[in-house]
Amino acid sequence: MSGLPGVREGRLIDDASLVRGPVARALEALNGRDVETRVVGGAVRDLALGLAPGDFDLATSAPPEEVMRLARAAGFKVAPTGLAHGTVTLIMDGQPIETTTLREDVETYGRRAKVAFGRDFLADARRRDFTINALSLDAGGRLYDPLGGLEDLAAGRVRFIGDSDDRIREDYLRILRFFRFSARFGGGALDGAGLAATVRHRSHLARLSRERVRAEVLKLLVAPHAGAVVRSMGEHGILGEIFGFADPARLERAVAIERFGDGEADALLRLAALGVVIPEDAERFSQRLRLSNAESERLLGAATALVRLHGVVSAPAPEVLRRMLFALGRRAASDALVLSQADAGARPDDAEFMAARRFLAETPKPKSPIAGKDIVARGVAAGPRVGEISRAFERLWVDSGFPCDAATVERLLDAVIRAKPGEGKG
Ligand code: ATP
Ligand code: MG
Repeated sequence: MSGLPGVREGRLIDDASLVRGPVARALEALNGRDVETRVVGGAVRDLALGLAPGDFDLATSAPPEEVMRLARAAGFKVAPTGLAHGTVTLIMDGQPIETTTLREDVETYGRRAKVAFGRDFLADARRRDFTINALSLDAGGRLYDPLGGLEDLAAGRVRFIGDSDDRIREDYLRILRFFRFSARFGGGALDGAGLAATVRHRSHLARLSRERVRAEVLKLLVAPHAGAVVRSMGEHGILGEIFGFADPARLERAVAIERFGDGEADALLRLAALGVVIPEDAERFSQRLRLSNAESERLLGAATALVRLHGVVSAPAPEVLRRMLFALGRRAASDALVLSQADAGARPDDAEFMAARRFLAETPKPKSPIAGKDIVARGVAAGPRVGEISRAFERLWVDSGFPCDAATVERLLDAVIRAKPGEGKG
């Protein structure tokens, strides 16, 4: 008995996305007298929970060449994405399905595993990281649970398969995966044996490829129990290994504030909350996780805007917000506002901060009413002086509270043009 309502080993899972669609077509094409293919891993776990899987992985007894032949005959496009590991990707209707031939790792010598292709679904399950990720589902919709994953899933237990230390030594990324899946499926408490093992091996986190760390961290941060799990990672010395400085209590405050926004869990905002206070923090996070340019810029924008709010203990006035909006854009301003609220220790539902958030969401970004051609039209010769006047005008216009009536704009521009070059800079 698994404890999940109606889900137990051998039960048929009747899910529309399996019965129809490309996954069903792939199972049909890759099952027969001499070949068995199943859905494996996280997709089966999600189906057992009644969730829609993000992606589907298949394991098959057929060798890769046979998989490609059968799949092509059934109308799939085929990409040999990892032939050395027996993986090919089948594509239909834009949906990629990773299909891996069952193998038995004959020996592992350091990094290199000599692989042999076999037919053993149990061995495939044992090679996976956690019991909840070791389920499989056959073409008839029958569920297989060789390692007690359903019971663990029902109990919110994320348990390594086999000896935790051995499994972590095979792949140190599993340290992060332990926390990620605990934050997503764990009821709150972390598995004691697993947690202790992650601590013993934590110094190896530094060796991992930063791209892999990035992917795990961003998924971890948006998981339902991210706050509590990240706090525990801090208490066990894991956060320091990944981030250097990090402040999990600040993350928890930001998550509480986020709930009073649009309700969407925002990985980058949460990352910023975890430890971005000044631009240097943004740089450090970007490097340690090898973030994309867009992601790095988002953190940097948040930090740059936040500096303007350092030391603020209540919601900033509309004028301050409008200046941030003009100088740094809506995204940076609203990120900084959430971080500032977390730093101020204000209640998540603080009425003034909520009004400030609404103001930022609804106020159009101010746009300077004067362009270069307007300056030239007033008799200034085209050249560097035009840019100088344009910047000086903007400063004066911002300081005057973004006036938009033509007479005031004209007066400000006039004052700037008549000022001597270099005057009023800074
Ligand atoms: P998600 O929905 O977040 O993608 P997932 O379970 O599908 O969760 P993936 O990282 O996509 O996670 O991996 C798919 C499956 O492959 C896992 O469920 C697990 O069985 C196996 N797996 C992935 N990475 C590892 C690993 N480092 N060690 C052991 N097994 C792994
Ligand atoms: Mg997946």
